[in-house]
Amino acid sequence: MLPQKRHRDFGWLLIVCAGLLPLVLGILCTAIEARHTVSQQQISTANTLLTQAEKMSDNAWDMITELRQYHNQPCAQIQDKLQRAGTLNPYFRSIGMLNGDDISCSSAFGLAHGTLAEMMMQPPPITGKAWWSVSVRGTVGVPTRPAVVFVRQLPDTSGFWAVIDGQYLMDFMHAIGESRGYQMSLQFSGGAVIGSGPSDTSPELYLKSESYQTESSRYPISVNVTVPASELLKAWRQALFIFLPMAAIFSILLMILTANWLRRRISWRDEIRRAIRGRQFSVHYQPVYSNKFQACAGAEALLRWQLPNGEMIRPDIFISAAEAEGMIVPLTQHLLDLMAEDIQSWQVDAGFHIGLNLAAEHLQHPDFITDIEQFAARIKHKQLCITLELTERSLIEDGEMVARKLRHLRAQGMKVAIDDFGTGHCSLTYLLTFPLDYLKIDRGFINAIEGLDVETPVLDAIINLCHKLELDVLGEGVETATQFAYLQQRGVIFIQGYYYARPMDNDQLRAWLSEQGHKPLLVEEHHEPELHHS
Ligand code: C2E
Ligand code: CA
Ligand code: CA
Repeated sequence: MLPQKRHRDFGWLLIVCAGLLPLVLGILCTAIEARHTVSQQQISTANTLLTQAEKMSDNAWDMITELRQYHNQPCAQIQDKLQRAGTLNPYFRSIGMLNGDDISCSSAFGLAHGTLAEMMMQPPPITGKAWWSVSVRGTVGVPTRPAVVFVRQLPDTSGFWAVIDGQYLMDFMHAIGESRGYQMSLQFSGGAVIGSGPSDTSPELYLKSESYQTESSRYPISVNVTVPASELLKAWRQALFIFLPMAAIFSILLMILTANWLRRRISWRDEIRRAIRGRQFSVHYQPVYSNKFQACAGAEALLRWQLPNGEMIRPDIFISAAEAEGMIVPLTQHLLDLMAEDIQSWQVDAGFHIGLNLAAEHLQHPDFITDIEQFAARIKHKQLCITLELTERSLIEDGEMVARKLRHLRAQGMKVAIDDFGTGHCSLTYLLTFPLDYLKIDRGFINAIEGLDVETPVLDAIINLCHKLELDVLGEGVETATQFAYLQQRGVIFIQGYYYARPMDNDQLRAWLSEQGHKPLLVEEHHEPELHHS
């Protein structure tokens, strides 16, 4: 009872994990997605702000170019024009002219007395350039509101200037960033910071606020857009809101699938165990023809499962289920028991081959040698030749250990065959290094035979290879006289398939052997295959 309970607890854990998986994945993916979306928006907002600042700069420089027409004119004469230009054009706080470091005329104060440094409330930057712009905390007329000062100096020490009100930029930042809670700032030539947006004070738990900085390629403008952690969290929450119902559906589906899978898993295991106890398994035998002796040379044991209601379960299905559920070893042990019982009733010549299929897992099992040796001991008096049929996979997995075990069994007179040859991924080196006797060519290759004179290159290559390696070849699934004749012509010693005989139960086999076992299989005659249904 205990292992069963542990199994069930483990099952619950698996179901819970299956349910959690879409949720956890969803939470992770939405966090990544929210961050990505927010950073895309952040970049696009920064670029919009930069474009706007560039546009304002364009305006300022255009204005300064226009001011050149007043070059060397006295302030009294141009003051009105300056005032009009300053007022009618958007963005400007004031514009004017310079004489050396002094302001010689201003649209705001007319004949202004004061220096540029006084107006900007800070010393002008030393750029060494005739054109420059800088952001400042305020100007003498509006000391509390930031502005951007644009200056063009002429070689004759005169010059022009324009001041753009920072409020325009702040309003713009506000308009594009407020709804998303962005903190935005902008600087001209590393001057005063013109900013907008809340300063984030919310605690940063698992999301950190993200800053993005970019610069203009045309002007000395740099822009910074910071998304506070709270905004990231908001975006994440929104993504979760959309995703969570979907994740919940996935969770439920996955839990149902897992539960079903577990139930089926448990039931296969239990069913096989119960079927062994209830003797629902039996063995059918398919005779193998030897072209050399022109008679039946042996038989392959094939497991059959019949439910109490008479229904048969296909071997490929229950064998792979048994392999997947770790039941193949007990099932093969049961097969050996059944075979040993059947064989007691056989009357066959010494050396008659009995082939049995072995799964890779069994070969690696510590009981493997004992299982086979016990079986061999039980049928010893019949002097049969036991042929172990392995798949290519068996050789690849833990090959060295398997080879050692096979050598041990071969030393006791057993034979080793590779089953379904050509369907796995066995390289030729395995054929050289493994202790092998026979190679069973998969029926897929036999099916490819179209006529006696039509070449079947892959099949021919396999047959030639076997001859070279001195392995005896068996053709599987031979169904027609043509296939049989083709293989016979190319020196294939053993033939197995419906053309010769179908798999049959033990009683049928004994009757068949005594009637047909010693008869040659002739191609010339019109030969109908035996119709023993298995
Ligand atoms: P396999 O080892 O390749 O066995 C030969 C299969 O081909 C058998 O199918 C047999 O009935 C079928 N067969 C024989 N002659 C012909 C023919 O002329 N035409 C056609 N179409 N089929 C033919 P079966 O009995 O259904 O077994 C299927 C597979 O199940 C076997 O393939 C083997 O891989 C596995 N299997 C069966 N019994 C056992 C067993 O006791 N242990 C293990 N490990 N596997 C087994
Ligand atoms: Ca086989
Ligand atoms: Ca086979």
